[in-house]
Amino acid sequence: MRVALAWLVALHMTLALPVAADECNGDCTDRRACRETFDATVAPVLARCGSYSGRGERQDLLRQARDTLIATGLLPASAFQGVTIQWCPLTGSGMVPDPDLVLLNPGLQSNLFTLTSILGHEMKHVEQYRRWGADGFKCRYSAEIRTFKGLGRGNSVEREAYDFQDRVEATLKNASSPRQAP
Ligand SMILES: [Zn+2]
Repeated sequence: MRVALAWLVALHMTLALPVAADECNGDCTDRRACRETFDATVAPVLARCGSYSGRGERQDLLRQARDTLIATGLLPASAFQGVTIQWCPLTGSGMVPDPDLVLLNPGLQSNLFTLTSILGHEMKHVEQYRRWGADGFKCRYSAEIRTFKGLGRGNSVEREAYDFQDRVEATLKNASSPRQAP
């Protein structure tokens, strides 16, 4: 998730404070309460995005971004199997509110480089869901929010996604820069 600072502040104030910070130490799989912060955050997004009329548009751009990521060698084609990618006017650029559901901001449609970069970021979250399970992902994310790690690189779940996004961007830039003749 990448979101505006104002939203982050609002989230901390409305969601993080009432919940005990030590509720989710260690592996919280199967403990519904530990995912509460994440669930509360994404519930309205899921409700809104599920009925967004433009959610299925510009499949050509999504295919291009996906194929570019596969061509870099950073992601195998199998990473995209079973993954639904839809547009939704989010506060931020992208989000993976449930396993195998990637939401992307339609504002990304105007820039294929940024779209590919953000899709790479969100696909790292898809991989994390597969690695930890849905409860594991949501519990870890909730714990990071509740302990004020934020939504940037200070959040360990996000840090991995941002680091991967950096690799995608570096690879794309390297591939597109003109080579010097020997
Ligand atoms: Zn993220």
